[in-house]
Amino acid sequence: MDRIPQALPWIGQAEKMSVAETLDNAWVTEGSMMQAFRAQLLDLTGARYGVFAPNGTLALVLGLLALDIGCGDEVIVPDLSFFASAAACLLVGARPVLVDVDPMTFQMRAEYCERALTENTKAIMPVHLFGACPDMTAIMTLAEEYGLAVIEDAAQAVGVHYMGQHAGTFGDVGCFSFFADKTVTSGEGGFVVCRAEDVYHKLLLLRNHGRRESGSFVHSGLGWNFRITDMQAALGVAQMDKLTHIITRKRERLEWYKQDLAGVDEVEFVPVEDGSEHVPFRAALLCQRASALLPYLDQRSIQTRGFFYPLHWQPALWKDQGDDAQFPNTLFASARGIFLPVYPQLQRCQVTWICDRIKEFYSHATD
Ligand SMILES: *Cc1c(COP(=O)(O)O)cnc(C)c1O
Repeated sequence: MDRIPQALPWIGQAEKMSVAETLDNAWVTEGSMMQAFRAQLLDLTGARYGVFAPNGTLALVLGLLALDIGCGDEVIVPDLSFFASAAACLLVGARPVLVDVDPMTFQMRAEYCERALTENTKAIMPVHLFGACPDMTAIMTLAEEYGLAVIEDAAQAVGVHYMGQHAGTFGDVGCFSFFADKTVTSGEGGFVVCRAEDVYHKLLLLRNHGRRESGSFVHSGLGWNFRITDMQAALGVAQMDKLTHIITRKRERLEWYKQDLAGVDEVEFVPVEDGSEHVPFRAALLCQRASALLPYLDQRSIQTRGFFYPLHWQPALWKDQGDDAQFPNTLFASARGIFLPVYPQLQRCQVTWICDRIKEFYSHATD
C-alpha cells in the first residue's frame, strides 16, 4: 500500500486551466481572479466585507489590528488549537489568556471564558475546531454582556454553518485559511470578513501600506503589504467551484470510518455541538492507547497526527504556565486524539485498510 498522507489538495484540470489563464493574461498580482475569489467567499459566507491576507495566521494578525487590539489587552483563546491562534495575539502585543475546552466536543465554552475575564479582557477568539463550531449563541451572548470584541478563527471552517449562519460571521471579524490542508486551498492564503464599515476601512489600510488607493503615494497610516497573487486566487476560484463536491466527499469518508469502526470499543468519534454543521477537517477520533496507536499506524504507511499540543505547554509561548489542573479537557483530548485523513481522493479501500490496521492493533496490543 502506498503511503496515505494526512491531507492532500484535490487539484485537477479546472485548477490548472484557471492558473494558466491567469498567466496568459499576465496580471499576476491582485486583479480579476482576486475579485472573483472574494465574490465567491462573500457569497458563501454571507459576509458583507472581506479582504485577503497572505495566510490564515496573518489574517488573524490583521483582524486583531483592525479591532485595535494590542499592548495591555487580553484575548481569550482556547487551550486546544493550532499555535497560530495564540501566536497572533502575541504578535500584535496582546496577551492570549488560555481557557479549557468542552469535555465532549473540545470546542471553546462560554462559561470557561467568563471565569477568565479580567478588566483587561478586550476580546474572545472562538476557534471553529475540526470543521465544526462552538456554541456561538452562548459565546456571542457573553461577548455582548461584557462588551467584548469577537475575532473568530475559522481557519478550519470554510463551508460550516452554525444554526444556518456561516462560521466567521458572528463576531466583529472572522478569519479563514486556504493552506494546502484546508477545505479549500489557494496554496497559501487567508481571508478576513467583517460586518462594520469602519473595521473594513481599517483592514484595507492595514493590508495596503496604510493607503486606500494602490496608485497613491500618500499614506495616511502605517500598514503592511498583505497582497496575494492572482495565481493563488485562480487556484482558489477553481476550488470554490467544486466546494460542494469537496464537502460531500469529506463527509462520505468520515461515514466510511464510522461504518468500519462501529464495533471497536476503544475508538470514539468526537461529536459536534448542537446546531453546528460538520465539514470534517479530519476524522477526529478519541482512541485508547493513542500514543502507541500513532506510531503503529505510521509504520504501516498511514500518516496520522495527534490533536494539537496544549497551548499552555508551548515552549515558545510560556515559561511557567504549567498549571495542568486548569485544563483537564484539553489534556484529555491531546492524550487521546488522533486525526485520520478524509481528503476527497481517499479511496474506500484505503479507509477499510486503515480501519483494519486499527482493529489489528487493538486485537493484539495490550498496553
Ligand atoms: C491552519 C490554521 C491556522 C493558520 O492558518 P495558516 O494559513 O496556516 O497560517 C490558524 N488557526 C487554525 C485553527 C488553523 O487550523
